[in-house]
Amino acid sequence: MATIDGLPPLREVIRAHDLVAKKQLGQNFLLDLNLTAKIARQAGDLSGCDVLEVGPGPGGLTRGLLAEGARRVLAVEKDARCLPALAEVAAAYPGRLQVINGDALEVDVMAHLTPPVRVVANLPYNVGTELLIRWLTPEVWPPFWESLTLMFQKEVAERIVAKPRTEHYGRLALLVQWRAEAKVVMHLPPEAFTPAPKVHSAVVHVTRLAEPRFPCDFKVLQRITAMAFNQRRKMLRASLKGLAPGIEEKLAAAGIEPTARAEEISLEGFCSLARVIKE
Ligand code: SAM
Repeated sequence: MATIDGLPPLREVIRAHDLVAKKQLGQNFLLDLNLTAKIARQAGDLSGCDVLEVGPGPGGLTRGLLAEGARRVLAVEKDARCLPALAEVAAAYPGRLQVINGDALEVDVMAHLTPPVRVVANLPYNVGTELLIRWLTPEVWPPFWESLTLMFQKEVAERIVAKPRTEHYGRLALLVQWRAEAKVVMHLPPEAFTPAPKVHSAVVHVTRLAEPRFPCDFKVLQRITAMAFNQRRKMLRASLKGLAPGIEEKLAAAGIEPTARAEEISLEGFCSLARVIKE
């Protein structure tokens, strides 16, 4: 059967290289190249960008990114079994695909990327949130990436884009939305993957902002939201009691009812409390 790039269909690639999926590596592969091209398109025009892909596996999304015109793709894959299949993709796109065999949590990707950089990945679920938090908390802002287009379990995607007074609102939403714009751009059922995972998935597109939406000290904001959401059903005057003396007055000074609960407070409210606490 013809494919979008003339390379063999992914089922054949998997069979030829004996890539039996390993659960401990979060291997749920996308085999439909039209679908991977569609995911690549969610990242916008890639023709002038380097793309960082974590976990290319047999190369489905990698091929989507290259077919959609990415200037270069740097792909970091932990499973050495995938390297021969990825080498075939690299040969079909001379000079445009570099593969590093290693753990994305350890590899220094910066040395291999030229800005502007976009990150696009069907992430291994076991390291997805950790990578997202790292990408959102660099020492200096703006970060090395312009946007992140990432597959998550649907429930994690909902936590990333959640608004106040909703079930999934919490620390992750505040962390992402403080200095980035996040939206869910695609939903995928389990059957889109081989093997099918137990959960539904969603692609989230995150664009960095030049500056935080509301000024405040990041570490103070982190401390407050950790305490507040640790006991999310408690009133803030109780959950934040240990944060600073006179917490009721400080909450009031930030324009927050001391009897309110964490899930009712907007990002702006938490940032203004962080400024009052810092003073
Ligand atoms: N991108 C492929 C696709 O869409 O079909 C594979 C996605 S699969 C969900 C996740 C991939 O990440 C697997 O190929 C797995 O081997 C790889 N992986 C798992 N942990 C990793 C890590 N720490 N660093 C780099 N790659 C990792």
